[in-house]
Amino acid sequence: VVLNRTPGGTDALLAIADNYRGGGAVKEAEDEEWRLLPVAKRLEHALVKGITAFIVEDTEECRQQCARPIEVIEGPLMSGMNVVGDLFGSGKMFLPQVVKSARVMKQAVAHLIPFIEAEKGDKPEAKGKILMATVKGDVHDIGKNIVGVVLGCNGYDIVDLGVMVPAEKILQTAIAEKCDIIGLSGLITPSLDEMVHVAKEMQRQGFNLPLMIGGATTSKAHTAVKIDPQYSNDAVVYVTDASRAVGVATQLLSKELKADFVRKTREEYVVVRERTSARASRTERLGYADAIANKPAFDWNGYVAPKPSFTGAQVLDDIDLATLAEYIDWTPFFISWDLAGKYPRILTDEVVGEAATALFADAQAMLKKLIDEKLIKARAVFGFWPANQVAHDDIEVYGSDGKPLATLHHLRQQTIKPDGKPNLSLADFVAPKESGVTDYIGGFITTAGIGAEELAKAYEAKGDDYNSIMVKALADRLAEACAEWLHERVRKDYWGYARDEQLDNEALIREQYKGIRPAPGYPACPDHTEKATLFKLLDPEADYHKAGKSGVFLTEHYAMFPAAAVSGWYFAHPEAQYFAVGKVDKDQIEQYSKRKGQDIAVSERWLAPNLGYDD
Ligand code: SAH
Repeated sequence: VVLNRTPGGTDALLAIADNYRGGGAVKEAEDEEWRLLPVAKRLEHALVKGITAFIVEDTEECRQQCARPIEVIEGPLMSGMNVVGDLFGSGKMFLPQVVKSARVMKQAVAHLIPFIEAEKGDKPEAKGKILMATVKGDVHDIGKNIVGVVLGCNGYDIVDLGVMVPAEKILQTAIAEKCDIIGLSGLITPSLDEMVHVAKEMQRQGFNLPLMIGGATTSKAHTAVKIDPQYSNDAVVYVTDASRAVGVATQLLSKELKADFVRKTREEYVVVRERTSARASRTERLGYADAIANKPAFDWNGYVAPKPSFTGAQVLDDIDLATLAEYIDWTPFFISWDLAGKYPRILTDEVVGEAATALFADAQAMLKKLIDEKLIKARAVFGFWPANQVAHDDIEVYGSDGKPLATLHHLRQQTIKPDGKPNLSLADFVAPKESGVTDYIGGFITTAGIGAEELAKAYEAKGDDYNSIMVKALADRLAEACAEWLHERVRKDYWGYARDEQLDNEALIREQYKGIRPAPGYPACPDHTEKATLFKLLDPEADYHKAGKSGVFLTEHYAMFPAAAVSGWYFAHPEAQYFAVGKVDKDQIEQYSKRKGQDIAVSERWLAPNLGYDD
């Protein structure tokens, strides 16, 4: 391996390495010892350690000792899961391990179900039924699925409606299935508004169920300010992360605890609302005209923009996954499993190190499988066009005939900047039309999700949520890695303005490259609807819920499906940087709406998280 003389040497080494791991023979004996325990203890051990190897045989042995098959579930399996729940609750076990335990539980239960049905017995009584859904227009479900698994192994019955679920379907199902709680999830900012809509509908239709809110862009502030006031019939609770879900559900469904919990949550939200409105009225911003006047002073006189090697769009299909794997930023992978810490330090972290290391090993094995067996595909569409800044904050994009193809609309920071710093807009990084400079802009769509949704579903159908979530999390990583890899190729080759760049993956993750690839919906360009223009330029055949050559389509709220996709603009200007637009005022929204040719109310809806005033 060291001299790289044998192809496949690494695999051969890994194959025998386990035999020599810490203590070797001693550990192996320990590993076998639990097999001598009584069957109930063996089941508990398998659940806590997440071992599936003997679960069917042990479950069967236990069933033969019990009068009825249900007793295996209600007895040893439940008490094993209680141990898991306690360890998780006390921070001695982490999410990936709990999801693995759930896989063991599911396999045991799957073995027992035919016996339970044969004697026409009742399924074990659940603590309550919880409806889970990713809201309309959103496709992200890793977090929702993890929460579902955690609640499921704590004795709750989960009705999972999947992704892109309209409010009507959520509410009808909640009634038909007699659910006790509705849990909404979402990742992109338009989902925040959709959740407000669901809450309003619940109020209008007279629902009397608690509402749980979770997902990346959701927050206690948004829940308190926007959702909670819409629904007064029952509780609205923001759930910070998967580890809190059980505690919240338990209190919401407990006769003794509920009233107190709801009262405390309401009081907390009143405080959050007061704090938020006090802060809003305190913050001063520049008027839009003054913000424009404080734009960065770039000297376009004599500026020669680098010229891309082609204009128009190109497709790269079947991009080598092994190459992309080298570009993965692993830190967000651990975050998606609720393990906090920077990679690679996280692997040796005092608290989560062991769990992170085990998760990372499983991830490597799955990644190898995805690559070797070509289970998913990566694809990219990217292109370049001549472009100029117009009307301060727009970018006009031209076809090869010089005629305008599209106009991109951007927003400018209005916050008051310290030390003479400029108020930025992405449009600043393209030469103004009046400068006479021929400048360019690029765009890209990358995905590593082709085949991923199907593969994840196949694991799910086998009761293997752990690997289902693993596939999605890895596909997400590969899609981001593809964006990173392609951007490097663009800088070194297709656009070629940084041919001599020498950056390792660490430096790429720290964004030390020249130029940027901002993504619509992210802080420098928070308007998700601009993705429609990007797709029109790169992949005009893509239509609502129908993928074009990129393999990706946009939902009604401009989420990309498959979820493992990234899209954005390329700016080559040496001063181009990522930034956050932050809060903007009505004077800018008025101008922006006029340029976009839409009602102010429409802009306000899509940009709700960025409004510095009450809409
Ligand atoms: N290395 C990380 C990148 C996360 S950011 C990962 O693998 O997850 C993901 C993408 O968001 C970037 O590739 C870039 O396209 C975009 N982005 C980051 N910061 C941004 C900002 N302030 N404004 C607009 N887009 C941004």
